[in-house]
Amino acid sequence: MTKDYYKVLGVARNATKEDIKKAYRSLAHKFHPDKTGGDGERFKEINEAYQVLSDDRKRGQYDQFGQVFEGASTGAHQGGFEWPGGFRVDFGEDRPGGFGEFDLSDVFEDFLGGAFGGGGRRKSAERRGKDIRIDLEISFEETILGAKREIELAKLSRCARCGGSGGEPGTKFANCSTCQGQGNIQKTQRTFLGSFTQVSTCNACMGSGKRPEMPCAQCHSKGVEHRSERLEVFIPKGIRDGEVLKISGKGEASFAGGVPGDLYIQIHAAPHTIFRRQGDDIIMHLPIKLSQAILGDAIEIETLDGTVRLKIPEGTQSGDILKVRGKGAYLSSGYSRGDLLIEIKVEIPKKITRKTRQLIQDLKLEGL
Ligand SMILES: [Zn+2]
Ligand SMILES: [Zn+2]
Repeated sequence: MTKDYYKVLGVARNATKEDIKKAYRSLAHKFHPDKTGGDGERFKEINEAYQVLSDDRKRGQYDQFGQVFEGASTGAHQGGFEWPGGFRVDFGEDRPGGFGEFDLSDVFEDFLGGAFGGGGRRKSAERRGKDIRIDLEISFEETILGAKREIELAKLSRCARCGGSGGEPGTKFANCSTCQGQGNIQKTQRTFLGSFTQVSTCNACMGSGKRPEMPCAQCHSKGVEHRSERLEVFIPKGIRDGEVLKISGKGEASFAGGVPGDLYIQIHAAPHTIFRRQGDDIIMHLPIKLSQAILGDAIEIETLDGTVRLKIPEGTQSGDILKVRGKGAYLSSGYSRGDLLIEIKVEIPKKITRKTRQLIQDLKLEGL
């Protein structure tokens, strides 16, 4: 699945921040695409690894799940950023470039485009596939404790026969004759405001600049096909209703072997009959008997983490809140937790026996 970021940077799993920074600096220096012996792919990989390992929370997620949840992370780190219903993304627009500022791969591509071309114009071959956005309903328990879900996505995938190259397995590739291997076609238009050069993707090679001698029999050299893919999704502990998980590279494949889009999963939490979330805490109501309220008691209650022993102190009132520390919701770091708050309701019996009535009469005489 995801690359081993520790291996990419050549550091141990328990490396300090300083070690990671040092390793990153020397590798980025060595593989920078502007240098002789540079390697754009390696450089990108090194940057990706550093983005994750240099950030405590992302590193924590990566260690725990083997992947990083961009969506869940954004709110936690932007101090002062109003974030009521979770990480909101406007999905109304279909922008081919994805969701700009949240999309790290875009940042790197722009950067690399600049480094290679000088002009900052991205090569058409690096066109991204479309992002996909889906909804996923999970139970209240799963929002608190995390979950692993398998989903099936029908989408434009990389062609299984040619692996996205567009050519029959083993065939040779030659420069596209339509665009002379450029991947795009320039058209210059003269107007009274001056002349404009319009660059468009070459349709003959889908922007790759190469054409196979034998086109793939399955995808007819598009490099993609409609297919269902099964995908395992890790839902991090403590996720909130409305939050969006971003899974990089799991969107639609792009034509001619470009970068795939990303998958965005919006989480919907089903309500629970007993528990309710309030910030980082979980709230529940607990009816107790009059005698338990007056005399106190020790009882067992069912929580999301199993049975917990609860001490009801003498003289507990209706509306009192008893706290079980550390049994609430996980914070977005996935480590510390809020509390379980138990709101007490003292039940007054509506019907009593003759004997009880007599006892209560006695209590009345006692001044109760
Ligand atoms: Zn194919
Ligand atoms: Zn072409």
